[in-house]
Amino acid sequence: MNYIVFDLEWNQSPGGKKSSNRRLPFEIIEIGAVKMNECLETTDSFQRLIKPEVYNWIHDSIHEVIHVDYKDLMDGTPFPQAVEEFFAWCGPEFRFFTWGNQDVMELQRNLKYYDMLSKLPGPVTYYDVQKLFSIRYEDGHMRRSLEYAADYLDIPKNQGFHRALADAYYTGEILKTIEPECILCNSSIDVYQNPKKKKDEIHISYPTYDKFVSREFRDREKIMKDREVNSTRCPICHLPAKRKIRWFINNSKIYESISLCQEHGYVKGKIKIRRTEENRYYAVKTLCCVTKEEAEETRDKRESLRRRRHMKRQESVRE
Ligand SMILES: [Zn+2]
Repeated sequence: MNYIVFDLEWNQSPGGKKSSNRRLPFEIIEIGAVKMNECLETTDSFQRLIKPEVYNWIHDSIHEVIHVDYKDLMDGTPFPQAVEEFFAWCGPEFRFFTWGNQDVMELQRNLKYYDMLSKLPGPVTYYDVQKLFSIRYEDGHMRRSLEYAADYLDIPKNQGFHRALADAYYTGEILKTIEPECILCNSSIDVYQNPKKKKDEIHISYPTYDKFVSREFRDREKIMKDREVNSTRCPICHLPAKRKIRWFINNSKIYESISLCQEHGYVKGKIKIRRTEENRYYAVKTLCCVTKEEAEETRDKRESLRRRRHMKRQESVRE
């Protein structure tokens, strides 16, 4: 089993959103990766600059951070060839590691653009080292920059940042400081290739919470009526927990609920409804144990949302 720590650099439309290609808002221009064995010893590295096909100039905001010259890219490898070489280099069995949750998704979107998504069948399980860093050294929720984490762990910064191979190197060095047990029970799943049918729905148990990804729905309204979507099971014993606060929608369009497991206490549910590129919808639900105080905070939040909505309604009646 190879551990592949990779990092991508991408470009976006130099003319802004108007001239952006909807199917490929971010075009990958560099792949950098280090390979490790299961003992986390580095065995090899990989780097390709990619010749752009969609955007013909580097967007200013990208240029500021990554320092790649457009003329160097013109000598790069076309994306289809570069990813073929990359997957061949990864070997027959590998696990992906990245800093943050964006790279795995953008890799798939670029593969789809070139009709090569079969190279990486989804949903893709991977390890987000930014999340692992937070779980191992902080509160599990905070997300730090790569440079912050490198400083925190006194990793010598001799390679600069924001070039794919250097960033993959730092991510790998950070990974090496984390115990294998902590790594292996905290995988992530990318659902860019989301479940289509009931039988493909995803249920995962993490040490402190459960995650569920539903199948696709044509109507957004129907999702919350689905029994599997709106169910609230305790993440520890997996028995139904009794609803104390029904699903309500908060200010960031996320549904929240509070339930009670007789054995394990309060369970907070969160549901995010996501839209696919084909304008269908699916739900991502998490259920985690919370304290009585956190449960009460959720109740207060619902009450103040209700009051505000009520006031708005009265104002519009008066007008
Ligand atoms: Zn329970």
